[in-house]
Amino acid sequence: MDKFLRRKDSSSRTDDEEPSTSVTKNIKKVVKRKYDEDYIKYGFSWCGDEKAPRPQCIICGDQQSNESMVPSKLKRHLYSSHPSCANKDK
Ligand SMILES: [Zn+2]
Repeated sequence: MDKFLRRKDSSSRTDDEEPSTSVTKNIKKVVKRKYDEDYIKYGFSWCGDEKAPRPQCIICGDQQSNESMVPSKLKRHLYSSHPSCANKDK
């Protein structure tokens, strides 16, 4: 009886493929935003972990979260906090 149950288990190998697909899903979720040199245009440098850099405003030194490492959010900070610097060149 035991043998039969074990055999049934090992024959259901289709289940083995599921973990790998969920791992790829996890990897996609965990992906951290990287600093882009273009962000200097918005007055942002970066600090912290190279794998999960945090944008840092070079005008006020404010550190944002890694999720804020997107042009729109950096731009919003620049325009709302430093409107006088918004039109300046890098
Ligand atoms: Zn700032």
